[in-house]
Amino acid sequence: MSDSISDVIRYDIVRPRVAQITLAKPETRNAQDTELLYDLNAAFDRAAQDDDVSVIVLAAEGPHFSSGHDLREQDYPAAMAAHETVGTWCGFGCAGAEGHMAREKEIYLGFSERWRNIPKPTIAAVHGKVIAGGLMLAWPCDLIIAADDTQFIDNTVAMGVNGVEFFHHPWELGVRRAKEMLFTSDVVTAADAFRLGMINRVVPRAELEDTALELAERIARMPLFALKLTKESINAAQDAQGRPQALQTSFALHQLAHTHNRVRFGDLIDPRFARP
Ligand code: ZN
Repeated sequence: MSDSISDVIRYDIVRPRVAQITLAKPETRNAQDTELLYDLNAAFDRAAQDDDVSVIVLAAEGPHFSSGHDLREQDYPAAMAAHETVGTWCGFGCAGAEGHMAREKEIYLGFSERWRNIPKPTIAAVHGKVIAGGLMLAWPCDLIIAADDTQFIDNTVAMGVNGVEFFHHPWELGVRRAKEMLFTSDVVTAADAFRLGMINRVVPRAELEDTALELAERIARMPLFALKLTKESINAAQDAQGRPQALQTSFALHQLAHTHNRVRFGDLIDPRFARP
């Protein structure tokens, strides 16, 4: 069954009780604008609410999984006004830091955290470049399968910011490698990510889809309620270590960085970083 959510997000039931969501905007390397993120959220919601779906796979078309947030999008208030919001924050058209923070709280931190808390198991199948905002799609998933060509990058420090809005780096890579990744903007290879426990498996690019779907199908045979309770239990263990509070602190500092750049340079990011 194939039933696209939109031009940029495909939704397919690919195996018994397995839904696959596909980022389908290869011409921009799956750059994330407001529309793509709302469509992706709608796809996650559909899979979460379908009782015939147990496992959700997130994959991407084209040479790269995602090049991150679409920095070319400028008219944020208009883009936000075109969608029904899912969080309780508001004031997307407000001046100063208010409107911008509201938007990032809704579609960046808000969506990633929302997807992390979907009760059903989620698997990201990633390949090529996974840059900055791209990490915010992969990290919320429970399992990550990577093609051997995958490169994970957070280059936001080069933009004068402290890391992406969903600041999961310490939980994904450990404290020291998280700092190195951010301080240098260097690539974390699939092999490195596997060694650090950030991803579950590395496979040749040609085997990525089959590996992810076979794993999804195996998991989907388990009792769904037990899967949900297991996910909730492990997430609770992580949250008991202070993850939600740390996330809020990092997000506040992220907003400070944007405001600093705006006061100093008139832009949300340091202009010495070249926009694509
Ligand atoms: Zn930001």
